[in-house]
Amino acid sequence: MVAFPLPPGSTIGILGGGQLGRMLALAAAKLGLKTHIYCPEAGSPAFDVAADFTCAAYEDAEALSRFAASVDVVTYEFENVPGQTAAILGAAVAVAPAASILAITQDRLTEKRFIEAQGIPVPAFANVESLDDLHAAMALLGTPCVLKTRTMGYDGKGQAKIMSPAEAEAAWHAIGRKPAIAEAFVPFSAEVSVIVARGRDGQTAVFDIPLNEHRNHILHRSSVPSGLSEATEKAAREIGQKLAQSFDYVGVMAVELFVVGDRLLVNEIAPRVHNSGHWTESACMSSQFEQHIRAVAGWPLAATERFADVEMTNLIGAELEDWAKLAAEPGAALHLYGKAEARQGRKMGHVNRLKQR
Ligand code: AMP
Repeated sequence: MVAFPLPPGSTIGILGGGQLGRMLALAAAKLGLKTHIYCPEAGSPAFDVAADFTCAAYEDAEALSRFAASVDVVTYEFENVPGQTAAILGAAVAVAPAASILAITQDRLTEKRFIEAQGIPVPAFANVESLDDLHAAMALLGTPCVLKTRTMGYDGKGQAKIMSPAEAEAAWHAIGRKPAIAEAFVPFSAEVSVIVARGRDGQTAVFDIPLNEHRNHILHRSSVPSGLSEATEKAAREIGQKLAQSFDYVGVMAVELFVVGDRLLVNEIAPRVHNSGHWTESACMSSQFEQHIRAVAGWPLAATERFADVEMTNLIGAELEDWAKLAAEPGAALHLYGKAEARQGRKMGHVNRLKQR
């Protein structure tokens, strides 16, 4: 196995070739590190900016072995890496964050139990494997509640809100009668996230807390500062750091939180760089992408200090058409992902608007 820190000229393998992989590759290039992207989709955005890429299935053991042999360390831009893929890679090369963390965070039930076991509050939840379980869960949690598939849910997919017991059966069918959790509906006043980096030496660095607003279940805007009290922000940072420590995490992770009064409840963990951290690129000493690359490569983490107030807005689908206007807007930093087709609901880019403090 390779020795850390990886010197400049080393190669970081990245599973996944979307915009997050692309921004990770750009950050690596800034530090003189090369990237090799592995992704099954032809024309993936990250392929354009990496030293090398492999376009093959995540189940292709031969392609995975060749990929592992060509890189010094492997990381990923998405959490649903199949367990078998992580195992094949892990046998051949250092993988960060560890495959065991993926296994926990891929399943909403194991994830929630893990968080609870650290003494960190989550919404009340119950395991649901049948319609009977769902009725029992509703008796416990009350309505409204939210039914979520245990695996493969994102941006509101695999989720159904249940307003009354009469809606239980329809919700169970709507999520495909799959193993699920039911969660008490949280009357939150805001959603925020913690973006925390942890290095191979155990040092952590946390960015300021963004306030996140969603539209159609997709992140629309992240604003910093969040407007939360200093004490609540401190509590949020501590949750991020505690979770990173308890996973023995290496890299950047995001923790999504519900704010209820002065309480914080963890909604979910993303074991990767996160859309709500894209503003760090324009407003901070270092971006979340640079921090992730530094951590994975065994480098010291950089400062996370922020020098401007900032608002990050996603460009979804046809919103890309405004690119020329956005490119001409003073104080706006435009970042486009190079995706060929602007399908509905697809993240095409983002714009960071800096404000005088
Ligand atoms: P998730 O896929 O779990 O991140 O959920 C997507 C969005 O649905 C969240 O960002 C919230 O806006 C909303 N949501 C999820 N779970 C709950 C809950 N238990 N109570 C209220 N809103 C929720």
